[in-house]
Amino acid sequence: MRSEPPVQLDTPAMRQYRSFKERYPQYLLLFRMGDFYEMFYDDAKTASQVLGLTLTSRSKGPSAVPLAGIPYHALESYLSRMVKAGLRVAICEQVEDPKQAKGLVKRDVVRLVTPGTLTEEELLDQRQGNYLAGIFAAAGKNINQAGIAWVELSSGAFWTMITPSDHLIDELIRIAPAEVIFSEGSEFDTKEFRESLVQLTSASASTCPPWSFDAHAATKTLKDHFGTTTLEGFGIGQWDPSISAAGAVIEYLRETQKTALGHILTIRRFDRADHMVIDGNTLRCLEIHRTLRTNRRVGSLLSCLDETCTGMGARLLDRWLTFPLTGYSAILARQDAVEDLSSDRSRLAQLRDIFSQVAQVDRITAAIAMTRVRPRELLALGKTSKLLPKLTNLIADISADLIIQMPPKLQGLDQVGEIIDRSIDPDCPNILRDGGVIASGFNEELDRLRRIGSDGQVWLGRYQLEQSRRTGINNLKVGYNKVFGYYLEINHANAHKAPADYIRKQTLKNAERYITEELKRYESEALTATQRIKTIEAELFEQIRQQLAEFIPILQDAAETLATLDVLCGLAQLAIERNYHRPIITQDNVLYIVGGKHPVLSEQLREQFVPNDVEMHPDENRLLIITGPNMAGKSTYIRQVALLVLMSQTGSFIPAEKATIGLTDRIFTRVGAADELTRGLSTFMLEMVETANILNNATPRSLVILDEVGRGTSTCDGLSLAWAICEYIALNIKSRTLFATHYHELTELETLLDGTKNLNVAVREWEDEVIFLHKIVEGGTDQSYGVHVARLAGIPKDVIDRARTILPQIEARLAEGLDMPELARRARAAAAQMQLFADPATRISRQIKDTDMDSITPLQAMELLRKLKSEL
Ligand code: ADP
Ligand code: MG
Repeated sequence: MRSEPPVQLDTPAMRQYRSFKERYPQYLLLFRMGDFYEMFYDDAKTASQVLGLTLTSRSKGPSAVPLAGIPYHALESYLSRMVKAGLRVAICEQVEDPKQAKGLVKRDVVRLVTPGTLTEEELLDQRQGNYLAGIFAAAGKNINQAGIAWVELSSGAFWTMITPSDHLIDELIRIAPAEVIFSEGSEFDTKEFRESLVQLTSASASTCPPWSFDAHAATKTLKDHFGTTTLEGFGIGQWDPSISAAGAVIEYLRETQKTALGHILTIRRFDRADHMVIDGNTLRCLEIHRTLRTNRRVGSLLSCLDETCTGMGARLLDRWLTFPLTGYSAILARQDAVEDLSSDRSRLAQLRDIFSQVAQVDRITAAIAMTRVRPRELLALGKTSKLLPKLTNLIADISADLIIQMPPKLQGLDQVGEIIDRSIDPDCPNILRDGGVIASGFNEELDRLRRIGSDGQVWLGRYQLEQSRRTGINNLKVGYNKVFGYYLEINHANAHKAPADYIRKQTLKNAERYITEELKRYESEALTATQRIKTIEAELFEQIRQQLAEFIPILQDAAETLATLDVLCGLAQLAIERNYHRPIITQDNVLYIVGGKHPVLSEQLREQFVPNDVEMHPDENRLLIITGPNMAGKSTYIRQVALLVLMSQTGSFIPAEKATIGLTDRIFTRVGAADELTRGLSTFMLEMVETANILNNATPRSLVILDEVGRGTSTCDGLSLAWAICEYIALNIKSRTLFATHYHELTELETLLDGTKNLNVAVREWEDEVIFLHKIVEGGTDQSYGVHVARLAGIPKDVIDRARTILPQIEARLAEGLDMPELARRARAAAAQMQLFADPATRISRQIKDTDMDSITPLQAMELLRKLKSEL
């Protein structure tokens, strides 16, 4: 039963409560009182809503204080629900033993739980990273530069990156942090930025004091943290905005965690040039780590390719896919490893079998560093350390460079295993305070005290027998309760036989309870033993933890190696299971794929999926215009090409008979507004902003995927724009580009523009039916079969028939009104009107004038402003 909470408005405890609440106004404060964490006022109301707790109140009337509480031992499960509901929680503990306290018990906030700083297994998804990111934009000379620093507290991984400011959000989208911090009062501290951040990244936004981002303060924070006098060892010579972000991140961790961060041992500089640029839109449209419709992992490329056996591996694969490589040798190194691993099925099966037993070494290591490790996590770590020699043996004769480097990094854990073996009871509970964690034989004093406990049971049995003989009461028994401790119980009928040295303590309905001197003596001894056992176990556990903390660098190396090997094994498994082939990577700007399949859709459709080829060359066919009826497979085809390139540059094999992939620096994907039904905020304006982004950022090494761009406006506008965009890409940028369009007029470009080629999706007309073959063939189409699709969709036959009669008439009129040169002229005129290529001042004022203030969303306004600024 819950004890009556001591809530009165003006007690010392309530004053103490309010002082903490003032210090942490943003947090829901859990105030430890005895066996409960109490919440008051609005916190209590929030908690009762989120957790379904009963709201009570101590006093009555207008001054009543709303109150809710949770039992201390259920903290983890409640915390998990609060965090999922987006709450930030401050945990205020009693930091001295209430029994020993003189007056008010000392309390302190021991941890602030925020979305980006979670470490407990039950608060985290095993297969998904949980990152905290700090962002900072430079002022002064490099005004267009922004820095990002992101940390995975649950593993200790810590990176920094410098990016042009207008790529900041895109980079955040793929880092996918759970929480983003920025300086209070900075350019990020606006309602608009917060909104777009939340909408685009789902991260929660927090502000930090500006000083923590200050160049000097941040550098000092980092030096203090790493215990170095310079940051040059991390490749950091001069200050840049990412250093400010990194310093603020460490400061925020200190402030919120209030514990050692000994597992954050290094900063890695993330060089954008080593990785393909994939903007947020492309990430979304290609459904790389989330699906468009559900925004979940299931159904994404990531989940389709995830054959990893460990959480560490799954999280690393996520990073590999969102940050594909651009370095030739780095890609080849991964390919070599995948090839070697897939060359021996039985070895691969054994490796994967071992991996299925491997624990989350990275997270357990972090927990050791932060003094949050649980007994069973140590057991799992110990077990894993014993698997490693077998793993090392299995990869011993693999010659791929990446794998040759691994065995040394998997050694040195034997000692960890030994320490754990010796010290932790294999049947221990997961929570230290439950006791029974330290193995017997590890500590003599502990063993002795435990014997008192277990011998005690024997002693009590004997004592009961003795007393029952002595008094002649057969049903006399020894019992225990919290209030009176040990007692002897005799029913009323026999109560008169109780000897004089029995001291009566309690009278029940049909029995009397007594204590004796002997029983009291025993009790105090047993209780001290239990107390001592608890204390000793806690002390020993802390010693063991400290011993293991010495191994953090070794454990982290091992964790990283295990994750990499697990991912490579997963890719090798794909190569075997799904018959993926190794693409040839080349520095030439070409793209040849024979028998390629869409990795996700082909898994669903199996044999029904029709493989397709692609052939692109910088001179002959760098712009492919794909026409064909609706539902023919255009979108699937162009996405498939992008996905196969992306997979190739992560080092994976691909679903294609053979392929030659010219190294690609960026993939851009834009989907016409009308086609992107799932995106409520999508408008033609946004589509054009995004297209402008391609036109401004693509290079000859890029791959551009355009799906029905220009569709979001009237036919003439849209067509003209599509036309002008194609021209600009084909002539000025020269990226490899696939443009799927229902504007079959665009097929004219083939004759007008160098390097352009028409493709279409083959259909077979049979009687009144159109059969989609999903096969991409050369040449353009001049029909869109829209009427046919309408029929498939169930439009009434009368309407279809009527449309069939009207169609030729409309076509005839269009044909007579618009011959091709005329069309081209109009297209250019429209482009000029849109001022896509005009001088900046006119272009910008035009865009502002054209903006409809009544329909623009804050996000679009933000985007527009960002774009306008970048144009300046
Ligand atoms: P479009 O963009 O031409 O309208 P989609 O690419 O959206 O067509 O494809 C429509 C449907 O056709 C897909 O949902 C899929 O079921 C099927 N499809 C597309 N490509 C193929 C293929 N290569 N093999 C088999 N079915 C396909
Ligand atoms: Mg389509």
